[in-house]
Amino acid sequence: MARLADEVIERIKRDISLVRLVESQGYALKKHGKDYSLSCPFHDDKTASLIITPATNLWHCMGACQKGGSVIEWVMQTQGVSFRFACELLQKDLGLITEAPNKAPTKNTTTKLTPPLAANADSQTALKQVIDYYHDTFKQSPEVQEYLRSRGLEHAELIERFKLGFANRTLGYRLPEKNRKAGAELRGTKI
Ligand SMILES: [Zn+2]
Repeated sequence: MARLADEVIERIKRDISLVRLVESQGYALKKHGKDYSLSCPFHDDKTASLIITPATNLWHCMGACQKGGSVIEWVMQTQGVSFRFACELLQKDLGLITEAPNKAPTKNTTTKLTPPLAANADSQTALKQVIDYYHDTFKQSPEVQEYLRSRGLEHAELIERFKLGFANRTLGYRLPEKNRKAGAELRGTKI
């Protein structure tokens, strides 16, 4: 397997917002001046000792475990994966993965994830795109389908007709950030 280029690692650390990543995993963040705090998931934390600093895109636990790092260490810790695998997961979100996984990424072969929402969509279209997005998420989540099955609700026609979805909060993570023009427009869309 090709070695991960340092510039790819730098891009992951710089361009993937740690705050959005953590929020997309369902953690509740408290605003703390310019920083955010949350209960550290890596030790028994009664106070919110884990601090995220958007300015540096880094996190650090001030409590018992003293863990910290970039988005990469965050994914390693929360998903229990290696450095390399964490980078691969995050690379997908940057759109850096090429079609031929054995080739080092080059400009010409870079594929981008299609943004889940189109810019300039009217509210009906935007709503439909959100429903479709989470409907696809649902179809890609065997654990959620298993849950429905356990409740006796597994029924292909029901799922299709009512477009059952799994809102796992990943949509926000996939949209451009507010401080970029495209992100501000998309996020400002009223549905
Ligand atoms: Zn901790």
